[in-house]
Amino acid sequence: MLSPTKATLNPGRLFIGGEWRDPVSGRTFESINPANGEPLTTVAEGGAPDVELAVQAARKALTEGDWPKMGGGDRSKLLWRIGELLLKHRDELAELETLDQGKPIFESSKIDVPFAAEIFFYYSGWANKIEGDTIPARGGALCYTLREPVGVCGLITPWNFPLLLMCWKLAPALAAGCAVVHKPAQWTSLSALRFAGIAQEAGVPPGILNIVTGKGSVAGAALASHPGVDKIAFTGSTETGREIMRAAAGTNKRLTLELGGKSPNIVFADADLEAAARGAAAGIFYNKGEVCAAGSRLFVQAPAHDALMEALLSRAAKWPLGDPLDPKTRVGPLVSEQQLQKVMGYVEAGKSEGACIVTGGRRAQVGDGGGYFLEPTVFTGVQNTMKIAREEIFGPVLSVIRFEDFDEVLRRSNDTFYGLAAGVWTRDIKKAHRAARALQAGTVWINCYSVYDPAVPFGGYKQSGFGRELGREGLDAYLQTKSVWVDLS
Ligand code: NAP
Ligand code: MG
Repeated sequence: MLSPTKATLNPGRLFIGGEWRDPVSGRTFESINPANGEPLTTVAEGGAPDVELAVQAARKALTEGDWPKMGGGDRSKLLWRIGELLLKHRDELAELETLDQGKPIFESSKIDVPFAAEIFFYYSGWANKIEGDTIPARGGALCYTLREPVGVCGLITPWNFPLLLMCWKLAPALAAGCAVVHKPAQWTSLSALRFAGIAQEAGVPPGILNIVTGKGSVAGAALASHPGVDKIAFTGSTETGREIMRAAAGTNKRLTLELGGKSPNIVFADADLEAAARGAAAGIFYNKGEVCAAGSRLFVQAPAHDALMEALLSRAAKWPLGDPLDPKTRVGPLVSEQQLQKVMGYVEAGKSEGACIVTGGRRAQVGDGGGYFLEPTVFTGVQNTMKIAREEIFGPVLSVIRFEDFDEVLRRSNDTFYGLAAGVWTRDIKKAHRAARALQAGTVWINCYSVYDPAVPFGGYKQSGFGRELGREGLDAYLQTKSVWVDLS
């Protein structure tokens, strides 16, 4: 099954100090193909001793060897080469991501891998533009600032966009001149392991990128608490984010946290309803709803409710569920049996709380039936107090909530401890911008949803996290400022 890529994966090994090594414990686990429930390959179960070796390798590479001697111009070229190699190996990476994660090949080949490359091209442009200031300081002193790399960074990522979210962190870290230890999610480690070969091919010096696969509670926790790690960049659940904060507190590490969401997507009655329906469907069915910024609460103004629902249901039919390797498939399997059970639990909760399923809601059979497929599901008649409107489901399950007026929908949209993203659909420009200001969210999309650009910062308000990825702020997160004073008197 994994024939095109197996040779390049170094099954069961870790990438530390530029070499493939067995985990100290010798233990491995299987990575599963969610489309059929069968094992793809084995992955090393790294633990604290492996994290220790990786952190030492990163520290050494930061202080000795080629990396500290490279200027921004050299790093810029290196990042560009990585971007080109990602595109060159696009088909292989996309297939690997789809096999391991279950996301449709349409998405992994047309979006995940090309966008990962774009991130490197974008930060390639920053690597040689990292500049300090000269500041007119007291007493006529010469005072200037240096922008220096934060140091050794631990990158911990979830399983929904494995390659892409690693690149969101890695590209600015390398542009800034940091060294990293990456802990991918145990369910989806394969693209990170394949990426190690790409980094080597591009010329990333040994020790600058280390990959320790394994369990979050073991390898991830060891990284978050390690005194030799200067910063943790984490994407994952709000709950794990709290654990990371506690673990990192022991050494006052820098943190950026990209956490969960329960994002409102608001359709006013004066909106272009066809466009809103398209955006609502993409907002919840893309990547089978395993999207932190999924528009999982669709607020629809009462006069437009029925027309919007009709348009949405005909849109939903354009998201065929099936084998994720089939280019026509738009909805693949959920990432794991565990995730499928969790999402099915929410479907049951929605039913028992009195919401009405208008489409989907059942496990789907594809091929031999061993995969973790769930039909795209839409609930209507949802109250904001119901479990399906309050908790992050992380599956293709939409909660449609009817509303009457502007103030009410803003109040209900903000009535959540999350604040990752929001959507607003209206033809009234004033209403759109008033809503954008009032929404407590790190990203607001007006008459669009789920659009990203490497130059535009992304991150959370409230308990959806802090710090920003992408854009200039995404680079700043990997830099620290040194002020230098020179007495000229
Ligand atoms: P998760 O359970 O929090 O896991 C995320 C990562 O943290 C995984 O690599 C996990 O390892 C690791 N981890 C788990 N426990 C840890 C610990 N105690 N110390 C250190 N690392 C630990 O999240 P998930 O279920 O994989 O992903 C879904 C969540 O991510 C959702 O809540 C979603 O909203 C959020 N998310 C947010 C964004 C964003 O940008 N805001 C983007 C994507 C996803 P293992 O998986 O190996 O246990
Ligand atoms: Mg897998």
